[in-house]
Parts: sequence; structure tokens; C-alpha cells
Amino acid sequence: MSAGAVYLDWNATTPVCDEALAEMLDTMRHAWANPSSTHAPGQSARRVLADARTRVAAFLGAQASELVFTSGATEANHQAVLGALAARPTRGRLVLSAVEHPGLLALAERLRAAGTPVDLIPVDREGRLDLWAAHALIGQDTALVSVMGANNETGVCMPLAAVAELAQARGAWLHVDATQLPGKAPLNFAASGADLMSVSAHKIGGPKGVGALLVSKGLPLPPLLSGRQERHRRGGTENLPGIAGFAAACQRSAATLGADLERMRTLRDHLEQGLQRALPGVRVLGQGAERLCNTSCISFGELGAELVLTKLERAGVIAASGAACSAGGTQPSHVLLAMGLGEPAARRGVRFSLGRDTTAEDIAATLAAADAALSPLLATTQPEPA
Ligand code: PMP
Repeated sequence: MSAGAVYLDWNATTPVCDEALAEMLDTMRHAWANPSSTHAPGQSARRVLADARTRVAAFLGAQASELVFTSGATEANHQAVLGALAARPTRGRLVLSAVEHPGLLALAERLRAAGTPVDLIPVDREGRLDLWAAHALIGQDTALVSVMGANNETGVCMPLAAVAELAQARGAWLHVDATQLPGKAPLNFAASGADLMSVSAHKIGGPKGVGALLVSKGLPLPPLLSGRQERHRRGGTENLPGIAGFAAACQRSAATLGADLERMRTLRDHLEQGLQRALPGVRVLGQGAERLCNTSCISFGELGAELVLTKLERAGVIAASGAACSAGGTQPSHVLLAMGLGEPAARRGVRFSLGRDTTAEDIAATLAAADAALSPLLATTQPEPA
């Protein structure tokens, strides 16, 4: 990242916070032993692990015994899906939203190709989950329903309580990929109605490569990686520095959550209003839905996301696009396609995601950069029909 650039890609990842960094260094220096060892250094590392588990669980509204540390949300998602299918052989069906994270959708696609029936719950033009379709798709043969807490591209929040009710009524387990919620919305596993929940440390100021799967008490979920650690639910020597950093990041996030949410929402709204006022053809995608306080997915007339992102970065602002880049060019965003946008429009979504360190000056600089970099281009294109 160029020095002094405004970073508005916090949904992709966040800088490691000072608290996490300090605790990771301390753990690497002083608690380097294997927490499974029975000697004194091992037992000392074990206490660090137990302490971190208690703090992360408290932040997420879960019991410490419900928390399985993983290498991140991708692994947690895999354990939830594969574990549910393995544990419930008489219910072979998988139901997930059409806008889940690409890693989860790719897993579902792989399972479908191998013979598992998979149904996708559609969303409407604002990105809201179609609850009628969910009602029709979740049946007595559904092993698992998987719906994300909020979408990483649009920030649109999913109606978790209603989905939990539908799943419970049919005896299906509910897994929530909550990766985008911590630090951006209140989150309580116990109150969510979910049986399983995935989270990731690097979205809230913790390090990459660590996360957790919350498994509600008594749920007979098999491991993805066999071994004795994590009460036989996740084998492999624990990433103790990462886990300690995760705990510190949770604590840091909890301390300022209320104020952070308010500030991010105000700045995000200011950004959207400013862009809409200054530039022709600006559309906020999913604006009619309940959204995370920090996320804004915007199309700029008929400009492709790639071009907008290049221009913005040259002007000192870093944003992102949900559209995946491959060797053959930019693929349209599966989220925007699911919202009913056509292929060209699904290549135009530019995501601005704010974080706890984003300032009013950053937003002012973004508005000035967008005006300078994009208005000459927009002046030459026609605004999109509504
Ligand atoms: N799910 C969602 C909704 C995400 O946004 C991400 C991160 N982009 C992941 C899963 C994957 O998380 P991790 O990097 O911890 O594997």
C-alpha cells in the first residue's frame, strides 16, 4: 500500500491492532511450549490457551466449551458443512444462500458434483434473503442450512432469527458464517439461534490464519482434522500466538464497539451522500436493505469496477471489488448477479469498507479523490437507468 493512502478495504482484512501484536509477541516469547505437553512450560501454555478461549467466547456470547479454534473462517465453514453431512446421514440435503462466501459456494459445488443435493436460497434486488423460498427449500431431509450473518460485498444483513426458526421447525442445523459481523454489529451466539457459527480473527484486528467455529453445546459435530486437541474437534498443535492475538483483538473491539459502530455508520453515510451529490449515475447497491454500518457497494454509472479501482488507487484511495479477477479478465460478482443485476452491471460494484481507524479526513479525501478521478469519466458516460 502506498504511504498515506486511505485504506477502505476493511472487509477484506484489517491491520493488526497494537493489543493483538503485543500479546502475540509475548506469547511467542513466553508461552512457546506445546499446550498439550504435561510439563510445566506446556501447562503454562495451556493456561494461556484457556484464558484466550474464555475471552474470545465471552466476546461472541458463547461458552468457552463451545469454541473450536481453527485456521480461519474458511476451515470453520468446511467443518460445519462437511461435519453436518457426516453426522446426519439420513438427511443428505444442504441449503445455503446464493450469496455465501465464494469458498463456501465452491465447497457446495464440489459436494453437488459428488451427488449431494444442494439448494440455493435466492435474494431480492436489494440483496435481502427470500424467506418464502427458504421456507419452501428447508425440509425434513435438510442436514444443514448455511446463511451468512452479513454479506461481505454489500454489507446486507441476513434475517438470522427468522432462518433459525425455519431451520428449527424442520430439525435442520443452522450454520451462520458470521465472519463479517464482529466489530461491525452486536453478536451473541447464544441468542442467535444458530447451531454453528464461523468467525475469523483478521477481520477485527487479529492476525490472519486463525478463527473459530462455535459449536452449540451437545451438537455431535465430527472433526475435519482428526486429533486430540480442541476436545477431539480439531487436531493439530494450536496456533497459540494467533489465538492470543485473536483474544486481544476481541477485547479491544468489545471495549469500543458501541462508539465504533456509530462513527462508522456516520462516516459511511457521509461517503454515500457525498458521492451521490458530486457524481452523476452513482448507485448504492443494497441501499434498501438493512446493512452493516461500515460497508458500501457502489456502482459509478457504467464504469467497470476495475477501472474505478485503478483510478481511485492512483488518487490515493484503496477500495475493492467483489468481482473476481482471473486470467481471462474480470468475472461478474456472484452476489450482484444473485441480486438480479445483468453481467455488465455485476462487474461495476465497488466496495468501500470502513474500519475503526477510518477518520472524517479519510472520507473527505476519498470524496475529493473520487471527484477528481471519476467525474471526467462519468461526464462522458450516460447514467444507468434506475
Ligand atoms: N466468510 C466470509 C463472509 C468472509 O468475508 C471471509 C473472508 N473474506 C471468509 C469467510 C474467509 O475467512 P478466512 O480468511 O478467515 O478464511
